[in-house]
Amino acid sequence: MKKIRYNSTRGNEKNVESSYAIVKGLANDGGLFVPDQIPTLNKTFEELKDLSYQEIACYVLGEFLTDFTEEEIKHCVYSAYDHKFDNSDIAPIVKKNDYYYLELFHGSTIAFKDMALSILPYLMTTAAKKQGITNEIAILTATSGDTGKAALAGFGDVEGTKIIVFYPKNGVSKIQERQMTTSEGKNTLVVGIDGNFDDAQNGVKAIFNDQEFNQKLNKVGVQLSSANSINIGRLLPQVVYYVYAYSRLVKEGEIQDGEQINVVVPTGNFGNILAAYYAKEMGLPMNKLICASNDNKVLYDFFETGTYDRRRDFVLTMSPSMDILISSNLERLIYTIAGEDASVVNELMDRLQTEGQYTITEDMKAKLDAFYPAFATEAMTQEAIKDEFEDINYMLDPHTAVAKVAFDKYINETKDTRKTVIVSTASPYKFTKSTLMALDNRYENIDDFELLHELNTVSRVDIPEAVKDIEKRPILHSTVCEKGGMADLVLDFLKN
Ligand SMILES: *Cc1c(COP(=O)(O)O)cnc(C)c1O
Repeated sequence: MKKIRYNSTRGNEKNVESSYAIVKGLANDGGLFVPDQIPTLNKTFEELKDLSYQEIACYVLGEFLTDFTEEEIKHCVYSAYDHKFDNSDIAPIVKKNDYYYLELFHGSTIAFKDMALSILPYLMTTAAKKQGITNEIAILTATSGDTGKAALAGFGDVEGTKIIVFYPKNGVSKIQERQMTTSEGKNTLVVGIDGNFDDAQNGVKAIFNDQEFNQKLNKVGVQLSSANSINIGRLLPQVVYYVYAYSRLVKEGEIQDGEQINVVVPTGNFGNILAAYYAKEMGLPMNKLICASNDNKVLYDFFETGTYDRRRDFVLTMSPSMDILISSNLERLIYTIAGEDASVVNELMDRLQTEGQYTITEDMKAKLDAFYPAFATEAMTQEAIKDEFEDINYMLDPHTAVAKVAFDKYINETKDTRKTVIVSTASPYKFTKSTLMALDNRYENIDDFELLHELNTVSRVDIPEAVKDIEKRPILHSTVCEKGGMADLVLDFLKN
């Protein structure tokens, strides 16, 4: 089997093993690790269609993580995808009308981040062992709401690790916040910051890039790593569910092996849709990757014009996990369409940092053909929730609703008849207020936690374990800090 090596998008770290890249998170030069080639799907769906989620995960991850043994991959996969998921399919695909929802919210924190964050701790600790690392590994994470809790659930009380989460104090839903601040686990720290997600993410990146700070940590036997989707160990497990979804469609007779499908992905940091792109590059028969944005439509504008411009107001929307102006993973796509020329990436990322914008060449833009961009305003998102509930009695969370709007636009515009999978990234129970308000204004003054019961009455879907009685759990984390105070808090926590 072909060995896959990993390179930094900024060119200074080359040819490293996946276990090195996973432990490291971000490369020394500030770049993101990318595989030096995308492996090819070398099995037919006749062979794959009867495999379980876990078996497909072992196959796909095995193709990418070529320095892991089969046993190691099995250990990671089967430890991650078990009874923590409330559906034995792990990622069930639900047929509605003539399209499909791929439900990625059946894990322990009811958002799609669980798909990767339930396996990352196992990949990370296995990788550390392989690399002979004896330091404690501290996961440092910025979250727009969902990553934080999923990482806390994944890494909480995992031997040899600590986990620190920064979230925008006023930028997440009440339920998201409570999920995080009630996290148990002696190795956890949760901090709200006075700022938005980009501030949190920039603060975290600055800490990663501060060599002096990292040396200080080394002295106390700690090294940092990342659970954000900048970590390749976060990204690769997300390729799995695209292959799995396709295998289910073949199995159910919805498509023929080889038939092209579209996917619609509600997008923020560009991780989930990049995983879809990698699946397509592996040879999974996919036509368009529909990139759905909310009012922070920086990606929509980028795909339309070739200019990435973050110089705009940051909008707080009802889909907070997509309220992002700097989509980190886009750097990996830029690297690919620049013909893997790190100097181009360096130049564009510098420009983004200094001028707040960059423009790609026509040649590069021509390579973005697989993507179809669309966006949803708040009103359109609300309408999609209401319509889908009234039409087919299916409650969408606001992120998935953004994807539904993008899907409708795509179909109206192209009349494409290929089968399309809409990626459903969160349970509506995570966003009770905004989902119910889309149906009726009378929920306006009702407490978010009370609304869990209302949503249960309206949707007749059971309240997931993840949020049941959440308002009664003790709050264990209440630290708030300024943007500038993050590094001190990190050092303080890790010293002990
Ligand atoms: C994180 C998240 C997204 C965005 O995914 P990216 O990989 O950052 O593009 C969409 N929906 C939900 C519910 C999320 O938690």
